[in-house]
Amino acid sequence: MFDFSELGLKPALNAALEAAGFEKPTPIQTQAVPLALEGHDIMGLAQTGTGKTLAFGLPLVNHLLGLHGKPDPKTARALILAPTRELVNQIADNLKVLTSKTPIRVTTVVGGQSINKQIQTLARGTHVLVATPGRLIDLMDRRAVDLKAVQHLILDEADQMLDMGFIHALRKIAPALGTPRQTMLFSATMPKQMEELSRAYLNDPKKVQVSPPGKAADKVTQSVHFVEKAGKPRKLREILSDDPNALTLVFSRTKHGAERLMKGLVADGYNAASIHGNKSQGQRDRAIKAFRAGEINILVATDVAARGIDIPGVAYVVNFDLPEVAENYVHRIGRTARAGRDGQAIAFCAADEVLLLRQIQKLMKIDIPVASGVEPEPVDRPKQQRGGGGGGRNRSGGGGFRSGGGKPANSNGRPSGGPKRRRSGRR
Ligand code: ADP
Ligand code: MG
Repeated sequence: MFDFSELGLKPALNAALEAAGFEKPTPIQTQAVPLALEGHDIMGLAQTGTGKTLAFGLPLVNHLLGLHGKPDPKTARALILAPTRELVNQIADNLKVLTSKTPIRVTTVVGGQSINKQIQTLARGTHVLVATPGRLIDLMDRRAVDLKAVQHLILDEADQMLDMGFIHALRKIAPALGTPRQTMLFSATMPKQMEELSRAYLNDPKKVQVSPPGKAADKVTQSVHFVEKAGKPRKLREILSDDPNALTLVFSRTKHGAERLMKGLVADGYNAASIHGNKSQGQRDRAIKAFRAGEINILVATDVAARGIDIPGVAYVVNFDLPEVAENYVHRIGRTARAGRDGQAIAFCAADEVLLLRQIQKLMKIDIPVASGVEPEPVDRPKQQRGGGGGGRNRSGGGGFRSGGGKPANSNGRPSGGPKRRRSGRR
């Protein structure tokens, strides 16, 4: 049954895959791995949950296994950037499955943890550095890491790197990297502006596309309930009572909303926790771990958990509030129906979210089936228009995502002024 052998990987990697129980490559792996092994830059697009991590992880580790000697102190040979701490840790865990029996070191640096410890670890040098951009820049500023030996750059959830904050980080990080290098971008959604990113950072890339951009995972069943804002908590309880023990991920637009919702659920006897930018890293890690283990079955989250997180048992994703960026709907619902499983994505839509719903349907080129209620007259939401005046990109001084940096500019955690869409940090 083992079927990875045709990809041209080193025997050590095939052995690791087989030991981990992987039988055959997914379509994005079949297409991307051979091209990446040839050294091409890659722009990889495939639905959520289809194995993009190994699609870049396998050729990367394969290359690194072919290099001799140890990395010099403070250097790294490959850099993987991802938008959240949880995703950085998850990518590193995936890579360690491939490297555990090899000399290859995988090191993570994320905010919310001791920077001094990270400085010490980096002092030895590493093969693969997996990082959130904010903490990496802090470490660069402290001269704790030298990136000029980096020969491979990977941006996971690449389109999020276009967000305000991240794009600044990338502009600072990229010139510090070695050349020539191989660069790979992977995501499930690729807004048009991705071409910009590609032109700036990729060299004659091979585009590997398994499905049209913005397509949901094949086995996710979607529905929408039209419900007034005030009716949402009750609607949620109805849905939860249909399948009380199922792992359910509930997305709220704001940190405060997520916290309030979680507290209400706990008060009503539900087994819920929350994860968002106001939680300490320890709390975030514990919540994810308990959810992964099924110790709690309801996780209320902001978009901090929208991308990349792989918890195979998630049966339901509830969009308690619709996301303000249509692409994020695709990512949120992609937390279920992973690796060929099925899952349900249930959206709530109030009058002031009808326009968001339409944007989502337009992006996905589908009509989401209505499970209850009738579509109300749309009510416009202030400050949500898309794209206007640069859409929040290219702003200087945003920097809200910087882990070790200063406080955000005002009390609601947003830099003052400017549209609030497409912010990446502090969710
Ligand atoms: P994506 O980044 O595309 O959302 P991930 O890389 O997180 O997807 O993988 C989703 C899930 O599929 C993970 O649990 C991973 O272990 C599993 N997976 C990846 N590749 C394979 C494979 N070839 N066969 C079976 N399962 C796989
Ligand atoms: Mg992924």
